Amino acid sequence: MDHRFIPQLTEEQIAAKQLAGLQWTAGHAYKGSPFYRERMDRHGVRPEDIKTLDDIRKLPFTTANHLKEGYPMPLLSVPEADVVRIHGSSGTTGKRKILAYTQNDIDLWKDMFARCYELAGLTVEDRVQICVGYGLWTAGAGFQLGCERFGAMALPVGPGLLEIQLQMLTDLKSTCLCSTASMALLMGEEVQKQGLADKIALKKAIFGAETHTPKMRKQFEEALGLEHSFDIIGMTELYGPGTGLECMAHEGIHYWSDLYIMEILDPETLEPVAPGEVGEMVVTSLQKEGSPLIRYRTRDLTRILPGTCSCGVTMPRIDKILGRSDDMFIFRGVNIYPGQIGTVLEGFPELSAEYQISLTRRDGLDHMAVRVEHAHGADEDTCGNLANAVANEIRKHILVRSDVRILGPGELPRSFAKTKRVQDERGEE
Ligand code: ZN
Repeated sequence: MDHRFIPQLTEEQIAAKQLAGLQWTAGHAYKGSPFYRERMDRHGVRPEDIKTLDDIRKLPFTTANHLKEGYPMPLLSVPEADVVRIHGSSGTTGKRKILAYTQNDIDLWKDMFARCYELAGLTVEDRVQICVGYGLWTAGAGFQLGCERFGAMALPVGPGLLEIQLQMLTDLKSTCLCSTASMALLMGEEVQKQGLADKIALKKAIFGAETHTPKMRKQFEEALGLEHSFDIIGMTELYGPGTGLECMAHEGIHYWSDLYIMEILDPETLEPVAPGEVGEMVVTSLQKEGSPLIRYRTRDLTRILPGTCSCGVTMPRIDKILGRSDDMFIFRGVNIYPGQIGTVLEGFPELSAEYQISLTRRDGLDHMAVRVEHAHGADEDTCGNLANAVANEIRKHILVRSDVRILGPGELPRSFAKTKRVQDERGEE
């Protein structure tokens, strides 16, 4: 891989960039945004107090609630005349989050996204079919800006429109598909159904924006005849998609630590977790002008992967997004994320990907029941043994006891909204 976009920086060089960027960001936000100034004043911290990287811990957190309360642009830190664009999040409840971009922000986002295409091993010969939302959302704009900056050919189809997608795949021979995992799955099924597998030229897919299982991924990789697929991360608050990507070694997601700082904190105590442990991603931008982020709580859970990657890229790595900190619960003193249970269940091919956890309290003691489903076609006679095996695996990996019950295929409720995995009835003894 030639490094046109991804800088090969040493740890010391990255740390130097982080300190300079942190100091600049604190000063810029303090000067430009009444919101940040008031927050920092109230916490008794001034930009000049940031002398080392550890001093980041003196700065107050920023949350999605702040974005909501100060709607539309509480983080705005430049004169409005300098804003060249806004983007907004989908905002499942109430007001959306609106973020402002200067031209420098847009240019930096482009470069950041171009790094992703480079990391995925694309060249300027590649044809990139972009099947994500355009408009207020950051997805379409990000994938396209990055593609053009990188120099490949963008095919901006947008989401849905299955017939046009297939036409582009067969007539224009797209080589890289950018979509959600479920869209890739749907297209894979359609390619197989219509017998188009040898008429398309796809080699790679970049997917993100929703949780996916390894099973799903393998399924669309096979159906579309892919050599590689890559998990991408990003959020509207931090430019948009493109702030990190899985590499060809598929050993985690590299993120651009010269452009933002990622802290992994315990969502309860807000203290750093031990290296390699799961916690909430808290991000601080280093060059963002329009809407800088200072210790923004993303609510996404992941962990830093230790060591250097076999692909040779020096940018640090995180695990995939493992869940949301809002879903975390404490059971008999242990912090548990539903995704951890999901990961254990993935080890059982006899089970579907659906599960539900219910927590109750009896005689002052917490109990956890896990309900899972048989996959279609699995042998139902083995249920008793299977339930024990699942309970043992949960105990081995998460160190808690649970009662596992196995239901028939399709018995658990499905919901296209965020599935409510955890029913906590412990307050209702
Ligand atoms: Zn790598």
